[in-house]
Amino acid sequence: VLPDAQELLAGLNPQQEEAVKHAGSPLLIIAGAGSGKTRVLTHRIAHLLATKRARPGEVLAITFTNKAAAEMRERIEALVGERARNMWISTFHSSCVRILRREAKTVGLNSNFSIYDSADTLRLITLVAKGLDLDPKRFAPKAIASRISALKNELIDEETYASTANYSDPFQQAVAEVYKGYAERMRQANAFDFDDLIAQVVYLFQAFPAVADSYRRRFRHVLVDEYQDTNHAQYVLVRELTGAGEDIEPAELTVVGDSDQSIYAFRGADVRNIVEFEKDYPDARTILLEQNYRSTQTILTAANAVISKNPDRPEKRLWTAEGHGAKIIGYVGENEHDEARFIANEIDRLQDTEQLRPGDVAIFYRTNAQSRSIEDLLIRVGLPYKVVGGTRFYERKEIKDALAYLRVLVNPDDVVNLRRILNEPKRGIGDRAEYAVAALAERDRLSFMEALRRAEDAPGMATRSVNSVAAFVKLIDDLTEVANGSGAAAALEAVLEQTGYLAELRQSNDPQDESRVENLAELVAVVREYERDNPEGSLGGFLEQVSLVADADQIPDAPDDEGARLAKDQGVVTLMTLHTAKGLEFPVVFLTGLEHGVFPHQRAMADAKELAEERRLAYVGLTRARQRLYLTRSESRSLWGQSQYYPASQFIEEVPADLIDWKREGSRRPAFTSQENIRASRYGGSHWGAGRATGRPVASQSTAPAAVRQGRVQPQKEVIALTVGDQVSHSSFGNGTVLSLEGAGDKTVAKVKFGVGEKRLLLRYAPLTKL
Ligand code: ATP
Ligand code: MG
Repeated sequence: VLPDAQELLAGLNPQQEEAVKHAGSPLLIIAGAGSGKTRVLTHRIAHLLATKRARPGEVLAITFTNKAAAEMRERIEALVGERARNMWISTFHSSCVRILRREAKTVGLNSNFSIYDSADTLRLITLVAKGLDLDPKRFAPKAIASRISALKNELIDEETYASTANYSDPFQQAVAEVYKGYAERMRQANAFDFDDLIAQVVYLFQAFPAVADSYRRRFRHVLVDEYQDTNHAQYVLVRELTGAGEDIEPAELTVVGDSDQSIYAFRGADVRNIVEFEKDYPDARTILLEQNYRSTQTILTAANAVISKNPDRPEKRLWTAEGHGAKIIGYVGENEHDEARFIANEIDRLQDTEQLRPGDVAIFYRTNAQSRSIEDLLIRVGLPYKVVGGTRFYERKEIKDALAYLRVLVNPDDVVNLRRILNEPKRGIGDRAEYAVAALAERDRLSFMEALRRAEDAPGMATRSVNSVAAFVKLIDDLTEVANGSGAAAALEAVLEQTGYLAELRQSNDPQDESRVENLAELVAVVREYERDNPEGSLGGFLEQVSLVADADQIPDAPDDEGARLAKDQGVVTLMTLHTAKGLEFPVVFLTGLEHGVFPHQRAMADAKELAEERRLAYVGLTRARQRLYLTRSESRSLWGQSQYYPASQFIEEVPADLIDWKREGSRRPAFTSQENIRASRYGGSHWGAGRATGRPVASQSTAPAAVRQGRVQPQKEVIALTVGDQVSHSSFGNGTVLSLEGAGDKTVAKVKFGVGEKRLLLRYAPLTKL
């Protein structure tokens, strides 16, 4: 039985209740962390349905990450049941993709467009810049890409920029030219990048008022979570959606946010959107929430102490009825391994003494690269864990190659992906042949695929290359047939088999290739899962889902086996960057790597604005904790094989000392020498800065198979002892016989003969038991 309107209000405090019931004007809810903003949104939606003020199809709820969207859908489903199916509950990006696919015809677009991620984008921008003979040292493609991204977020298109750029500034001139060429190539490739998704919908609405009106008529209630992180394009999109149309009343808009949690300025987020809401919507009602329901007083006091050091912020009163709770625990590791060891020991101890489950624990760090030392230790002690951050898996070469094939099958005009796979695996189509085809395409205004079909006309093409190209074209045609006739999973399997990609990896003696094979197997599992969940789904639909798995998102469900049952009951430890942690909560939180130059980030230390953003990030991290908070750092970290020493982060020092119980304090090292200082900044900038340069956190490279990294497979505590001739059982390959052993310790590789063939397995990770 679904709750009625009255039941939905039970348990809310008076301000929350007012926000849930409010009607008739735009509504702004501003409040600190854990005060129930997201809860108010979900209850408000349920209340709209219960009081018949809205039908499910009239609701558009927007969150910041796919994970947050899935969680919101779950919470709403718990309140309103099946009816949640007809609501749009999604990220800005997913909603926009949906709109663009539906409206593609209106604007003369092809609805099977590709979505380029930041790596694809950078590749194409590099190509365009090369074509313009720009010196990559003077005009780094990365810098150009990030400028173009910023322009798109500001809704400045290539033509507007071309007419407003200052041409006496060489960089602006370069950006203007590349932006133009890039936009042109994207149109030819029938592709959009991430920033386009939002901007193009805005342009669509502005150019076709009838289309805009159809959405205004449809969405009578628009609700946006984490409004403090919207950028200008998203802001305008919301205005377009909720604006008055021909004979249409403006939709009811609800936004919730916390300016202290604005952490995406580097992607163009603008807190002014929240600060100036009342100016933009003069009849808006503003409601403040002041009771925190998430954390203990100790945690809240610590978080408030840190954030209160930021200048120019209105003081918030946030209180909790939860009581003081446990003290914060502090630890200073001698190095990153010692820090990791402490964390693993503590999790172990809490499991024993407080029946804590691994799923209750989250470990946060500033940049992805820092997860390595923690992961290594968790694997060693056999604590199941997952790393949240979708790019990691999908950024791997073999996964990108396989997806590139699939993208080409759906959209043969997708030149970036087409060129990626042209000679992958090697099939005798070299650079010269590729350029000859590109020249033909240019000369005869053909798409790259069409030019491939006429390769014999390409100037300077060797006969041998003509044959290789013809074979490639035939391969793509055959695969396209499979994709059209038999669906996504069949297409992927055909790609892996018919291209010879898998065979090449299987023949390799490199253990890393073994793990590549496992990753591809994982991808096949992902497609199968997609087909199971979307019986009507197409290959295009699958690719779209993959494209939208943004960095903040991927928490895969464990598969249905022994390890999964364990994981379901006990959960697994969650590792993620602070950016990813937004909106989430955990009973136990470890905030790690609290070092000056790591967090706050090296680059932010000299810039007051950036330092303020780092501090907000610290506030987000601290306020994820419900009962227990750990603050850890290490005295040294190795960078490029050398130990670098770091002093404590100022964020630790800003936490009142009496709240922290130190388990190990820093040893009295001589003060940070200037020599080290220089080194730390020289290396620190580029190494730890990787995440910021591309505008999104960068994946850490790990040799652990995906299944292990995601905590699906219980990692071995130690390498199993085997001798040649032993009978073993593998969880996917079945029973087999050990043929040979190489290496020692955790590098031992066994060659095993299974029914499916011979395999080389790195014993440290292989799910293998001795019979
Ligand atoms: P953040 O700023 O981190 O996004 P938030 O303001 O969105 O936080 P929620 O996640 O909605 O906060 O709520 C924090 C926790 O408090 C959740 O566990 C939620 O269920 C709980 N909570 C919120 N309001 C109430 C209430 N009135 N009674 C009981 N629990 C509540
Ligand atoms: Mg929230």
